[in-house]
Amino acid sequence: MDFEGWGPRRWASHFNQMLNLANPPDRYRFDISALAMETSCSLFPEDPITKVGKEELDGFAGALVPSASRTRWGIVYGAGQSRGRRRFTIAHEFGHYLLHRKKYPDGIHSSEAGIDGRTRLQIEREANEFASWLLMPLDDFRRQVPPTGKPDFDVLGDCAERYDVSLVAAILQWLRYTERRALLVVSVDGFVKWSWSSERALTTGAFIRTSRGPVELPPASAAGRELFTPEARSGVDHPTGVWFDEPARELSFKSERYDAAYTLLHLGDDPGWNRVARRHSL
Ligand SMILES: [Zn+2]
Repeated sequence: MDFEGWGPRRWASHFNQMLNLANPPDRYRFDISALAMETSCSLFPEDPITKVGKEELDGFAGALVPSASRTRWGIVYGAGQSRGRRRFTIAHEFGHYLLHRKKYPDGIHSSEAGIDGRTRLQIEREANEFASWLLMPLDDFRRQVPPTGKPDFDVLGDCAERYDVSLVAAILQWLRYTERRALLVVSVDGFVKWSWSSERALTTGAFIRTSRGPVELPPASAAGRELFTPEARSGVDHPTGVWFDEPARELSFKSERYDAAYTLLHLGDDPGWNRVARRHSL
């Protein structure tokens, strides 16, 4: 078969069709290391992946590394990652192998931001897209949370469990396809570390720019006041002016493990100025 020109989604759907046909009992929690090694051996016997293992990777979350002879590849993931994160990292590096190894014969190192999908680097975006679509097939995810749904952390946590990925990976995948205006905000010590908006939120101006440095959390928000109560986790409604120039529903909790606060913001469907902007563009 000629795989020239196959993009991340094509590769992911190739493996998803294969997994759907085989339909193992752990269909959505399959062994990603075994998949990467077995399929690369049969598809690319001249330079397969022969090893997946843990290593101390100073400053990196994962890497795709060639053998000295360039006839074998290894995937390594950094120590200290949770099971779900590790699985995503391996899938991400497998994506680099399928899509980028010819262009980068010396291998590829991936940062944590690259694996979360927070960078604009094209190869990182592609590896991420492959990992997300492979581990969280869109047709199935849409059955768990419809594109117009307004999920909370419990619903998204169930998805993370179903696909054996981290909560953040599941939230980012939902943000990729939702038709709603929503964003994820990750903060540390009262400052936004990074944030990711759904397409509709982004194009209607609902985003937080952190590229020029950390941004302070809104002082009236639950996360800004460090009110990490069960109520804040299931959602509190804020009037205009707390997060944006429109009302927002905030869901926030703090992860002790990562010492970070996670905030999901659900915004309304139709901000007024967007209606105006659309009318002018017609
Ligand atoms: Zn990468």
